[in-house]
Amino acid sequence: MVKELIFGHLNPDTDAIVAAISYSYLQNKLGYDTEAVALGEPNDETKFVLDYFEQKMPRVIDKIGKQVQAVMLVDHNEEQQSVADIKDVTVTHVVDHHRIAHFQTNSPLFYRAEPVGCTSTILWKLYGEFNIEIPQKIAGLMLSAIISDTLLLKSPTTTDDDRQAVKELAQIAQIDYPEYGLQMLKAGTNIAAKTAADLIDADAKSFDMGGNNVRIAQVNVVDLPEALTRQEEFEEAMEQSNQTNGYDLFLLAITNVLDSDTTMITVGKKELLPKVSTAFKQEIKDGRLDLPGVVSRKKQIVPPLQKQF
Ligand code: MN
Ligand code: MN
Repeated sequence: MVKELIFGHLNPDTDAIVAAISYSYLQNKLGYDTEAVALGEPNDETKFVLDYFEQKMPRVIDKIGKQVQAVMLVDHNEEQQSVADIKDVTVTHVVDHHRIAHFQTNSPLFYRAEPVGCTSTILWKLYGEFNIEIPQKIAGLMLSAIISDTLLLKSPTTTDDDRQAVKELAQIAQIDYPEYGLQMLKAGTNIAAKTAADLIDADAKSFDMGGNNVRIAQVNVVDLPEALTRQEEFEEAMEQSNQTNGYDLFLLAITNVLDSDTTMITVGKKELLPKVSTAFKQEIKDGRLDLPGVVSRKKQIVPPLQKQF
């Protein structure tokens, strides 16, 4: 078999990194020759997970170059969220739980998409379908990804499949998941030590919305009012990022992972802001919107915006 690389999206979250690891393990068991890599450094939450399960961080790459001719994608498909030279290689497999957009191939491929809470939930199913035993460490990693993507099964993206996967994976990993999950989520919320520029870039994705380049970042916290004392600092960093990267609109969702609430800071072209207001049915006050009950960028933030744009 010719070697292939497997990776998740840019600005990787826990799912993007560990889905590559567990999919690579599965594919290698099935006879492929794959290596899990990452399109960025791990965030604090992912570092906690990798440390906890004593898993080595995959190699970080910024382009494929001449390393391989074919790749497998996990946890994304949109080309803006992928490796810079994705167009120069063949995508042979995709396992993903996001919308399909800006994705095109020249050849047929394996594509597994399900509207579940986490890529690792789909991978858990694939292990079952191929009858491959999940090692304890891999189970712990997959469990962590599902907890991360579903905020401990509280996000509206959570499905019965995710709940079932968490139950079974926790058993294999021998983890008390509610307790471990809280510890893990908290490990990702220490924002005090980081600059605004780093925070607005850590978990950020770009979307083409009606021809506008819209950047949506999310920061998880356990204390929203404390995070909002830095609003001005965030706005400056967002403004700067808009200028440097050509974004038309930058939205920063600050999410309290314990209460499942979000406050969104908006910076961008004046003519686009009313669309944001309409999407969330409220006026932007002091440069921000309060979004009670909103925790999911994919399900609660992107779709209403896409509709307005
Ligand atoms: Mn992800
Ligand atoms: Mn995911």
